[in-house]
Amino acid sequence: MTIYSEKTCAICGETFLPNAGTQKYCSSCRWDIYDASKTRYRAKEIAERKKRVRKQQKEMSEIIRKCEAAGLSYGEAVAKGVI
Ligand SMILES: [Zn+2]
Repeated sequence: MTIYSEKTCAICGETFLPNAGTQKYCSSCRWDIYDASKTRYRAKEIAERKKRVRKQQKEMSEIIRKCEAAGLSYGEAVAKGVI
């Protein structure tokens, strides 16, 4: 079995270990491409979606950080208008 050197995913930009020399995408994006060919989404649209998800995750971690700083649960923080 050949071990290929790390590559950068053409969609998300993360490094991954390819199983084949021609592999362009990481394992998670590869399945998005597969879905994309079925639903006619383009790689760019998938990348945009991933960016949005990352932004949401970032916002969520910020909310969690605020809750922890205030010593409140998420529900309490929402109720008290902290977040
Ligand atoms: Zn990727």
